[in-house]
Amino acid sequence: MNSKGILTVISGFSGSGKGTVVKQLCERYNYALSVSATTRDPRKGEIDGVHYFFKTVEEFENMIANDEFLEHAGYVNNMYGTPKRYVLDKLNAGENVILEIEMQGGLQIKEKYPDAVLIFMAPPSAYTLKKRLVDRNTEEQDVINKRLARAAEEIDYIDKYDYLVINDELETCINDIQRIVTSEKNKVNNQPAMVDFIKKDFKNII
Ligand code: 5GP
Repeated sequence: MNSKGILTVISGFSGSGKGTVVKQLCERYNYALSVSATTRDPRKGEIDGVHYFFKTVEEFENMIANDEFLEHAGYVNNMYGTPKRYVLDKLNAGENVILEIEMQGGLQIKEKYPDAVLIFMAPPSAYTLKKRLVDRNTEEQDVINKRLARAAEEIDYIDKYDYLVINDELETCINDIQRIVTSEKNKVNNQPAMVDFIKKDFKNII
């Protein structure tokens, strides 16, 4: 019996380990992972259509004009957006969908889809974050600094999220998120077809 798919938004500071956690969640459980569009240049090893849809600014602006995004936001010199069609198709088919996006986008999603579950992932400390970003070695120092500055700004929005998980130990973090999504799935209002069935079935019990 098809219940509604859960739309889960995972946000967290750049370097919080979101990517690893989301990858593991998708590998272990049947999440549909939305591939975002971005104007940022591909990093080494990133594949168009797999990690992102890499767009020119003009292409991205056309997508905005054609209302192709569920949400979009600017982040450190670039634009990022979630293509609408894929996400809506998957949710309608009853699949759980994960968006790994920054907080402005997360809050736009919550406004349009109040049932969406907003999870904020934080590293155990600011020091850990800084170290992970430097060790990752994918950005120049000035971009790292901008990303850290953005992290400091984003802290103010944590209160607007539904859940906070700390990414200290990977397994714990994955299990925490999976438990949250399972609980959301079990909510009565996320299972209208099952509620209908039970009501009809039990009417004739005597
Ligand atoms: P990165 O350049 O490190 O891949 O991503 C930078 C930030 O943009 C991360 O916080 C990432 O979660 C966020 N991001 C990725 N895709 C999207 C999207 O479609 N929309 C929004 N709002 N943020 C995104």
